[in-house]
Amino acid sequence: MTSYQFKIDQVLDKIRETKAEVVGLQFPEGLKVHATELASRIENETGALVLISGDPCYGACDLSDMEMAGIVDLLVHFGHTPLPIDYNVPTLFVEAHYQLGSLEILKRALESLEGKEKIGLVTTTQHLHLLEDAAQFLEEHGKQVLMKEGAGTLKGQVLGCNFSSVQDLPVDAFLYLGSGNFHPLGIKLSTQKPVVIADPYLNQVRDIDEFTDRILRIRFARITKATEAKKFGILISSKKGQCRLDLAKDLKKMIYNEGREAYLILLDEINPPSLLPYMDLDAFIVTACPRIAIDDSKMYKKPLLTPQELEIVLGLREWEDYQMDEIKY
Ligand code: SF4
Repeated sequence: MTSYQFKIDQVLDKIRETKAEVVGLQFPEGLKVHATELASRIENETGALVLISGDPCYGACDLSDMEMAGIVDLLVHFGHTPLPIDYNVPTLFVEAHYQLGSLEILKRALESLEGKEKIGLVTTTQHLHLLEDAAQFLEEHGKQVLMKEGAGTLKGQVLGCNFSSVQDLPVDAFLYLGSGNFHPLGIKLSTQKPVVIADPYLNQVRDIDEFTDRILRIRFARITKATEAKKFGILISSKKGQCRLDLAKDLKKMIYNEGREAYLILLDEINPPSLLPYMDLDAFIVTACPRIAIDDSKMYKKPLLTPQELEIVLGLREWEDYQMDEIKY
């Protein structure tokens, strides 16, 4: 059973300190189940009026419309750490900590790390608080643990669009503590080092290699299909932390220089229905969240590509030089 702990006292203190009368709460999908319980406690203990953002939320790149509209005095964003971008209203970022029952899973991960001495320990925001204990555990079992901050990320933290904390780390292998395969895939492709996943949600230790091969085969098929494309749609996000207009403009020029057509399309949510009107286009390039082209690929009939994959399509990059897309703030 998934269990999270919120630093609610931090929220109550901030509301009292700022005398905020209207407070917005924003949660990623998995944490929205806690929204009304937290709203009730905040209203009862501070007297502030709480607005819960009901829209999807993917990261600190994607603050609520309340932020844009300026209709709250304080926005409380749960589950992510801040990004180095300007926010329109005072915003408090509150980490949601996943509670791990025991370090048992690390014992099993040790078996997969046999023969590797220097280990890079990596995780996502909701497990950052576990890194210290995990590092101590590994060191007690003879490993040397290395971690560093990235550009805009904390020590040992990766985002789906930012793997700078693992790049150039001189380790024999990485141990990723968390769920899913996307982040370990990014670590693997950014470093070419072995990546072992200790997944407390599935209570499973696994290697990323099999998944990496499968994803690369799918990406190769999408790229191959797009080589025939004559007309491209370049998708730009209106979400502040995902908007890369300059990149989109560069890609448009790049496509025209290769004798093909390209159109810029601005969207808040990228999903299959939002692309339905553009069926005259042969392929789409996503300059928004880098996860969309990879994670949601199967949902789309036309190829969705990252900017680096477009370069391969146009013959400007070799397949052997495949790289994950990252957002540099
Ligand atoms: S752009 Fe995507 S991967 Fe990066 S923080 Fe936002 S949701 Fe996460």
